[in-house]
Amino acid sequence: MQILSGLTLKEIEEITDKLHASKFRARQIHNWIYLKSAAKIDEMTDLSVKFREELKKNALVSNVKIKTKQESFDGTIKYLIEFPDGGCAETVLMRFDNRANLTACVSSQIGCAVNCSFCATGRLGFVRNLTYKEIIEQVLTIQRDTGLKITNVVFMGQGEPLLNLENVLKAMEIFNENFQIGVRRLTVSTSGIIPQINKLAELKMQSTLAVSLHAPNHEIRKTIMGIENQYNMNDLKTALKNYTAETGRRITVEYLLIKDLNDTLDCAKQLADYIHDIKCNVNLIPYNPVAGSLYQKSSNNSVMRFKSILEQSGKKVTVRLERGADIDAACGQLGGRNNTA
Ligand code: SF4
Repeated sequence: MQILSGLTLKEIEEITDKLHASKFRARQIHNWIYLKSAAKIDEMTDLSVKFREELKKNALVSNVKIKTKQESFDGTIKYLIEFPDGGCAETVLMRFDNRANLTACVSSQIGCAVNCSFCATGRLGFVRNLTYKEIIEQVLTIQRDTGLKITNVVFMGQGEPLLNLENVLKAMEIFNENFQIGVRRLTVSTSGIIPQINKLAELKMQSTLAVSLHAPNHEIRKTIMGIENQYNMNDLKTALKNYTAETGRRITVEYLLIKDLNDTLDCAKQLADYIHDIKCNVNLIPYNPVAGSLYQKSSNNSVMRFKSILEQSGKKVTVRLERGADIDAACGQLGGRNNTA
């Protein structure tokens, strides 16, 4: 049985060819899957009943299940999606009252090997990579469940996307071509896997690269992100400068503010110094504690003081709006309450 979700138009044409149907039928099926979010073949009402019956003997729309669904008071929805092998991954729909954008935050792996000390996913350890079809199914699941069309995708869910680069790039291609989501509305986040950043530079990627820095110097970074021991901030800086030169794109520096650890005046000055010659914007993320967290959230005053120092250095700085914290869907919280293995 073929699963239609995740197939390219060409792959759907191979199915319709076998059923002696026209390429136009393939295009109709493609639109039902990606643009009209059909959950069943019977919903594809512009196909004849006879053809739908034939198609049902050969194909299914999807074979994933929503295991749990949690809705936040702010409209954020977190799904735990189960794949046929029993593996599960979390995906989050984020919406903002004042914006038309609907953003899906997708997972790229089940668990994660990077093991950042502030992250709930890191505590699960690495289980496996998600295939590009499993990444796509996350967005399709949201679309099918809500009837809404996703406009932006961020790879900021569970896993380190650049350690599953082949599947992430293929998923991005399908988001762009099949879902008609512009490349600039796709964001890939990384903890700083330098060889893969260099690969993206070579590919001249036009989507946004977000780099989780989370510390102003080597000493602090290595205490919260073990990856610093493998790819340190000096080398990371060289890779980021090369990336912006090759792609012409500005990167986003993500910085999680943790009370008394990396949110001091001195830390802000050191960070301003580190990024002064990197073409970047900064996104400050007040830390969201989960059960058993080692860290605490920075005060609003600390966040504002930190922001102001970076702004004085000439950088554009945003403070990420907290979404879904009550359902553990905010940054670093995924995997906190569900066993995703
Ligand atoms: S923050 Fe990202 S890279 Fe670090 S452990 Fe969590 S999922 Fe992995």
